[in-house]
Amino acid sequence: MSEKRTEIGNLGEFGLIDHLNKNVKVKNATSVKGIGDDAAVIDAGSENVKVVTTDLLIEGVHFDLSYMPLPHMGFKAVAVNISDVAAMNAVPKQITVSIGLSNRFSVEAVEALYEGIHAACEHYGVDLVGGDTTASRSGLVISITAIGEAKKDEVVYRDGAKANDILCVTGDLGGALVGLQILEREKQVFLANPEMKPELDKYTLVTGRQLRPDARMDIIHELKELGVKPTSMMDISDGLASEIFHICKASNVGATIYEDKLPIDKQTFDTAVELNLDPITCVLNGGEDYELLFTISQEDFPKLEKHADIHFIGHITKPEEGKYLVTKSGTAVQIKAQGWKHF
Ligand code: ADP
Ligand code: MG
Repeated sequence: MSEKRTEIGNLGEFGLIDHLNKNVKVKNATSVKGIGDDAAVIDAGSENVKVVTTDLLIEGVHFDLSYMPLPHMGFKAVAVNISDVAAMNAVPKQITVSIGLSNRFSVEAVEALYEGIHAACEHYGVDLVGGDTTASRSGLVISITAIGEAKKDEVVYRDGAKANDILCVTGDLGGALVGLQILEREKQVFLANPEMKPELDKYTLVTGRQLRPDARMDIIHELKELGVKPTSMMDISDGLASEIFHICKASNVGATIYEDKLPIDKQTFDTAVELNLDPITCVLNGGEDYELLFTISQEDFPKLEKHADIHFIGHITKPEEGKYLVTKSGTAVQIKAQGWKHF
């Protein structure tokens, strides 16, 4: 009798996480929120909580050191975790850093990686408080855990969106994907002819979005100053469409967004067109932008209306109304979530 074998690809990343953890129940009263948000939430006494999030980055899957300088890699590995802390409306305080290294790496190379890690610790005001170091057979592996703090009633989850809330995104989207395509293209050109110098000057904004993402802690502090607590929030790491699906599923709501409201930088748009990519598809399905997606109640709109870096892309609807994108010509098309699938 042959043993049953199911390909991981059949479930996909989110299907696999759900499958493996469907029977997990939290036992401890201090586990306020377990699996299923950007970070876990842990009771820290007297109305305070800690948030905890972790990310694993593997060379050849998540990054390519032929165009990712090591200091940038170190900074980015921290930033992607800080982004998940921000997504809970919390303030990051500590990180731990675990690395796997193959003998391809020298002490100087690891120092370069740590230059970026330390720069990120300065930038986000966090302390590096521990980690682990081990040998690796498959290049560089980096796993960072970030811990943040918040008041219990300040934490924003994915499940609080209500019909008629306004959907907001920070910054602009699609740049990191377009930047990655440019870096890949120039790598291929270089591999074919090492004499050729990569032509990257024209693309600094999009390549920067891929190589130097910055978690939006600035927005978290500004929302606090303006007295706005989003009703739901998450960071955009897998693409806007996929994240809208997460908010809608967790909150049991639908959503309508408008093509003409989606924020895209001119360089992202022009470069997408040059690469024969549809700019709107890059905005909806591009990964790694590390901007914030959140919902606010209508009454908070006047407080954010004039903010230069917050864009109002649509609104929340009842669950039976589904998830739609209204195109520039006024047609409503169903949103499909693709996101990054590594399997
Ligand atoms: P994000 O994109 O915000 O980092 P993920 O999509 O990686 O979040 O994870 C979604 C949720 O699933 C999080 O709560 C995360 O902690 C949890 N999760 C991911 N992988 C595992 C795993 N192997 N075991 C338990 N929980 C997991
Ligand atoms: Mg996240």
